[in-house]
Amino acid sequence: MPSPQSATNQSDDRPSGGQPIDVLVVGAGVSGLTIAHDLAINYQRQVLVAEAQDRVGGAIISRQNNEGYLWEEGPNSFQPAPELLRLAVNVGLEDQLVLANGKLPRFVFLKGKLNAIPMSPPAAIATPLLDWGSKIRLALGAIGFARPAMAGEESVDQFFSRLLGKQAVAHLVAPFISGVYAGDPKRLSARAAFAKIFRLENNYGGLVAGAILSGKDRQAQKAKNTDLPQVKAGELGSFKQGIKMLPEAIATKLRSQGTPVKQQWTLRSLNRQDDIYIAKFDTPTGEEIVMSRAMVMATPAYVTADLLKDYLPSASQALSKIFYPTVACVVLAYPKTEFAYDMQGFGNLIPRTEGVRTLGTIWSSSLFAGRAPQGWQLLLNFIGGTLDPALAKLSDSEIIQAVHQDLKKTILRPDTKAEPKAIAVHRWDKAIPQYEIGHLQLLATVEAELKKSQGLYISANFIGGVALGDCIKRSLQEAIKIEQFLAK
Ligand SMILES: Cc1cc2nc3c(=O)[nH]c(=O)nc-3n(C[C@H](O)[C@H](O)[C@H](O)COP(=O)(O)OP(=O)(O)OC[C@H]3O[C@@H](n4cnc5c(N)ncnc54)[C@H](O)[C@@H]3O)c2cc1C
Repeated sequence: MPSPQSATNQSDDRPSGGQPIDVLVVGAGVSGLTIAHDLAINYQRQVLVAEAQDRVGGAIISRQNNEGYLWEEGPNSFQPAPELLRLAVNVGLEDQLVLANGKLPRFVFLKGKLNAIPMSPPAAIATPLLDWGSKIRLALGAIGFARPAMAGEESVDQFFSRLLGKQAVAHLVAPFISGVYAGDPKRLSARAAFAKIFRLENNYGGLVAGAILSGKDRQAQKAKNTDLPQVKAGELGSFKQGIKMLPEAIATKLRSQGTPVKQQWTLRSLNRQDDIYIAKFDTPTGEEIVMSRAMVMATPAYVTADLLKDYLPSASQALSKIFYPTVACVVLAYPKTEFAYDMQGFGNLIPRTEGVRTLGTIWSSSLFAGRAPQGWQLLLNFIGGTLDPALAKLSDSEIIQAVHQDLKKTILRPDTKAEPKAIAVHRWDKAIPQYEIGHLQLLATVEAELKKSQGLYISANFIGGVALGDCIKRSLQEAIKIEQFLAK
């Protein structure tokens, strides 16, 4: 593949006939579909979406069976950010939105029992998750009395230890990191992985002051979005038939308005001649070539790295350094009578100190109606991650047994004889990109080299946040840049 500078000197690789389209989007996860939707529907651009798998949605996988279970194997819920809600409304999903009660407690399993995570100052004073020294330490840190940061980039562990104290990190922050990133707080970058929280400290001098001031921004946002479904604090979203309704509805709308969304189209190579991108795909009916003025890579970092290897070597090398650990999503069900708790809650996280391998469990059927038959409890368990690479060597039945034994220690009755009803085991060999120390530097390298290839854009979950709302927000910002480029 030629370098961007030499691309115009190459022999003509373009298929004869046919005009280039405006934008080719590679990858039909939520990032790619959001960009395609914005450019095709809102900006009326000629777009084609190409996806390697035989379905859209990427990491979003919702399934159901004829026994009455409905489950997720990727994201299980989302924070109903205005950008996400607007997209859902635009593709006709307003009536399909479901919201989990924001007051449902979240638990941390510590010293043999579940403890509710404190969500208010009085609850923080009463919580058994921290000793008194740690509570005072946390309170002081939250209002801005903390050691100044050391030189160099801080890890998540260093940042929160400095601000909130070691025990708060071990009992609250680290389990949360396992739950969101399946990551290692000592390797993750505070600035990259927790950009918003990092800014609260830097801009406002403390988490509480920051939270109050940024709360004002949220109120202003809310006032601007009165036409959207109204959401109460802490509520989490999904759709009646699972999160996959969102990518499927976007793809349906795109197709109905004349934008092709191709499945089983795997990008094999890309080239650029005379300012036109030439992408070659493997498809079930042979090779297909698409020419476009702009092109978006909405694929995982390791895929993008491979495809840009010869074309943008520095960007490719930087992208190949982004680490994705293996995580398994283990979906199990038990009769409700087998639990040691009443199971009114969001789920539980487990600090690595408790001798439990499972990272956390989402009490899925307690969150959303219609996820399990009467009398049964559906659990989504996550196991593996950066700190447990050995998980990759276990068979599915060994993984199910490991999770079952952990559930007996955590939320099932210790004397239960029940065996799990195994609904699904989904192994994510490369699950979630880790925003490790040096991540922002890697992205800066990518950004710098991308400037040499006008019209080429990258939008995926290794930039600007992994949550679905972050992917949508970032993709909308990217769509604006692409539209400006096309309009030139
Ligand atoms: C197990 C798990 C649990 C999660 N839980 C939550 C949660 O509860 N809440 C939340 O908000 N977020 C959660 N996330 C994160 C969130 O789901 C992802 O960050 C987000 O869905 C990523 O979207 P994306 O479009 O950037 O990437 P992806 O969804 O990875 O999409 C990339 C697409 O590119 C395609 N592709 C790859 N190679 C090619 C090629 N050569 N040619 C064409 N297409 C190609 C892929 O097939 C894929 O469809 C979770 C993620 C995982 C894995």
